[in-house]
Amino acid sequence: MKINMEQLVAYCKQQGFVYQGSEIYGGLANAWDFGPLGVELKNNIKKAWWKRFVQENPYNVGLDSAILMNKEVWVASGHVGGFSDPLIDCKSCNTRYRADKLIEDFTNGKETGDNWPNEKLVKFIYDNNIVCPNCGKLNYTDIRKFNLMFKTTQGVIDDPASAEKNTVYLRPETAQGIFVQFKNVQRTSRRKVPFGICQVGKSFRNEITPGNFIFRVREFEQMELEFFCKPGTELDWFNYWRKYCLDFLKDLGINEADLQLRDHAKEELAFYSNGTTDIEYRFPWGFGELWGIASRTDYDLTQHQNHSGEKLDYVDPDDNSRYIPYVVEPSVGVERLFLTVLFSSYDKETLENGEEREVLHLNPFLAPYKIAVFPLMKKFHSEKAMEVYKLLSKEYMTIYDDAANIGKRYRRMDAIGTPYCVTIDENTLNEDIVTVRNRDTMAQENIKISELVEYFRDKLSF
Ligand code: ATP
Repeated sequence: MKINMEQLVAYCKQQGFVYQGSEIYGGLANAWDFGPLGVELKNNIKKAWWKRFVQENPYNVGLDSAILMNKEVWVASGHVGGFSDPLIDCKSCNTRYRADKLIEDFTNGKETGDNWPNEKLVKFIYDNNIVCPNCGKLNYTDIRKFNLMFKTTQGVIDDPASAEKNTVYLRPETAQGIFVQFKNVQRTSRRKVPFGICQVGKSFRNEITPGNFIFRVREFEQMELEFFCKPGTELDWFNYWRKYCLDFLKDLGINEADLQLRDHAKEELAFYSNGTTDIEYRFPWGFGELWGIASRTDYDLTQHQNHSGEKLDYVDPDDNSRYIPYVVEPSVGVERLFLTVLFSSYDKETLENGEEREVLHLNPFLAPYKIAVFPLMKKFHSEKAMEVYKLLSKEYMTIYDDAANIGKRYRRMDAIGTPYCVTIDENTLNEDIVTVRNRDTMAQENIKISELVEYFRDKLSF
């Protein structure tokens, strides 16, 4: 049985995956904190991405750039002038909407309204009688553009003039940190084009309509790759990365039937892009963007070259040609992948004996705890169980549990996705043999303690 959004939010809180932020003060709208299990799952998602995109990919290297950057970066990238959403309010009930999202919801994603001018958005809304979803009236304000960047000041500010001078923005994407370090990374890593730079980090957007739990939040993490290639080869690389991303999702265990690739139509493309695809997941409210993959031509590096006055072109050592590399950008949010992983792995199953079990069929690499260690009877087996716990926790995230009967302990671990439970009983005291139980098959196996660490090695890797 699948889970709906309301149940998932309750489940996440109950198990310690996600709590409401600042809860004891009544919360802060759409701010969420990740609890003991949530932080593990989040870290494992980032580790899996890094392993696949940096460690195992022959083209890519990593970077960790600062959140605060010179504000000229955001002027050059177009974010100061243009990073805005079309805001529209219902005059009857004052509910606020993103005009493009009203259209997207109304047409079930057939039209997204992305990059449409205001007049076209308004005309579409009135022509199609898209009434306010809250009160049913067709009575909207004009569209206003609302810049999504969080603005703050750096250093000591004692007069309004220096406040303006000292303005800094919280980055709304990690990508620009990569573009401005393109030369340094290329030179110091002695990379030849094609190569890519990967980054994982926080981004901030003052979203007009955050919501759907952690799907759209104002503070989130992105995992981004900027892949630099020779002009003319970008669409081949675009296809390469689309497949690479999709394979990654499948390997994480996301059900392929719940994924779809949506190519942006010509009028929806940003003016500099010659190809954009969203990998969408079937969330309970319909398909939604999980991963955006865009062929961005030489737009970003050219903007930074023109604006900074620094040369950002590349000389090809093979034929001495000089060009500004084209860029393919796959960008995914950690929180959206977190949500996707939970929706796709949660299940409520009825067992042969009629009992119900709640189980998270997580890819073992993603599981918050890899192994649970149980003494069968607290009184007799705790000491040995603690020894086994110490042995395994040096290698794997392991949890020790001696409360309640063994059946209940299994259920608790199933519900949080722990792939293996190790039970210590008389057999262990006499012969150093433990029972290992598999979360998905519930089959049990006897394994020698001396072989345990190796036994798990392949099973828990990615
Ligand atoms: P949307 O159309 O949903 O606002 P976008 O097209 O603006 O998203 P991008 O700028 O392409 O998103 O960002 C790349 C990825 O970052 C998205 O695919 C998504 O996974 C993630 N992301 C973007 N905005 C948010 C947000 N407010 N909360 C959580 N994740 C986000």
